[in-house]
Amino acid sequence: MFVTHRAENGVVYVTSDILKSKHAFSTRIGGVSQAEHTSEFNLAFNRGDCEETVKENLRLFGAAVGFAPESVVSLPQIHSANIIDVNVSMCGEGYFKEPHISCDGYVTSECGAVVGVKTADCVPILLEAHNANMEIVAVSAVHAGWRGTLAGIARKAVLNLLDKGVGLSEIKAAIGPSIGSCCFEVGSEVVETVSKNWGEKYTDMFVVVKQNGFYIDLKGVNRQIIADCGVPLENIDVSTECTFCLGEKYYSHRRMKGVRGTMLSVIAKD
Ligand SMILES: [Zn+2]
Repeated sequence: MFVTHRAENGVVYVTSDILKSKHAFSTRIGGVSQAEHTSEFNLAFNRGDCEETVKENLRLFGAAVGFAPESVVSLPQIHSANIIDVNVSMCGEGYFKEPHISCDGYVTSECGAVVGVKTADCVPILLEAHNANMEIVAVSAVHAGWRGTLAGIARKAVLNLLDKGVGLSEIKAAIGPSIGSCCFEVGSEVVETVSKNWGEKYTDMFVVVKQNGFYIDLKGVNRQIIADCGVPLENIDVSTECTFCLGEKYYSHRRMKGVRGTMLSVIAKD
């Protein structure tokens, strides 16, 4: 189940009770961004806020959730299925240090690193893997737009966690606020790619045909990809919130026609 929190400093963020690790999905509420399109809590550079504003928002997010802003690793995203293994020497890359690589997902088994993905309609997925003693072994954050989703980035995240020596039933996933099938219209080429990459089961389950075109449930596709890896369905929590519908709470790339701020979803092993 997803829960919305309002911290004492005004920051509003969302968590999932399926995850035991420190984690949060940000909203657009509670920061210091002044521009109409970035107001109030933009967490990305190059969206119209000065660098200091974005860093101050990250500090506020960290204070609200309980992580050090300098520990965050969030690199340029390229709608790929590339996931990198993060160690603590990378802390700060993307906000306080120059990024050395681009990617769309992270896995880390090191304490001290906070991995984060930036979204505004795309699907943020946070995962964790624990051992038989319920100790967290590794965590993962994934940016899954339709390209990354269809390229199987969620599957890669699960495989990366399995590499850490855990079992499938020891993996938990929270699929965060993102554009819903109510609003995510796609072209026929996307539907064809769903069918080609993942089979007709996926188009039957997750593509809705309306009078004016095709709509896709990207959160559902990602949940199914993770489940088809063998992760039990009860280990996967899915947000019901649509970023396009909830304009007061979330930035939406589509609704705001690209002129928008960016949310950040973070998770840490410790
Ligand atoms: Zn919607």
